[in-house]
Amino acid sequence: MSVFDKVEKSLKERGYTVKTFATGAEAAAYLDRELDGVSIGIGGSATVRDLGLYELLEKHNTVYWHWQQDANTARAQAMTADVYLSSANALAETGEIVNMDGNCNRVAGTLFGHKKVCFLIGRNKLVPSYEEAVWRVRNVASPKRAQQMNAKTPCAAKADRCYDCKSPGRICRGLVTLLGPSMAMENEVLLIDEDLGL
Ligand code: SF4
Repeated sequence: MSVFDKVEKSLKERGYTVKTFATGAEAAAYLDRELDGVSIGIGGSATVRDLGLYELLEKHNTVYWHWQQDANTARAQAMTADVYLSSANALAETGEIVNMDGNCNRVAGTLFGHKKVCFLIGRNKLVPSYEEAVWRVRNVASPKRAQQMNAKTPCAAKADRCYDCKSPGRICRGLVTLLGPSMAMENEVLLIDEDLGL
């Protein structure tokens, strides 16, 4: 019995292609094999960064990532790439994928504009219900990210919870729930049995 049994079933029922991996390295090797000679856009993602995917994929693909290149140019180029890679801030066992964004390029990239979108999701993102997924995004992932960015927000000091701030530096702007895969693209979810990202 895997930690992903229930969510894998839920995601498949909703129409996603799902693959499970014991480690992030195995998921990275899979993408390195699958993606060749294509253009790839990447959303802001500690998971993608920690797996070294940019370095792997840019050797034999055209990769646009604003964490590695001129940010505004790369964000725009990533929007029309063949493939878009993103992690998730939370995944409900019932199959909802939830992401928060400040610039909103990442959430936009998961909705439209590519042949395929691929979500890389570590086990730490998994929660039992949709309500808990939204709670996790707002009170765990976002404050941790604000702290990492040294954002001028009330959550950044302790990363303990969301204060629903109205700060100019607020990083929480677009909260997007995917209730199912976008009809315009192939959607794949890679579930990874390791803690990855925030
Ligand atoms: S809304 Fe403000 S306080 Fe809440 S997590 Fe986002 S940046 Fe932090």
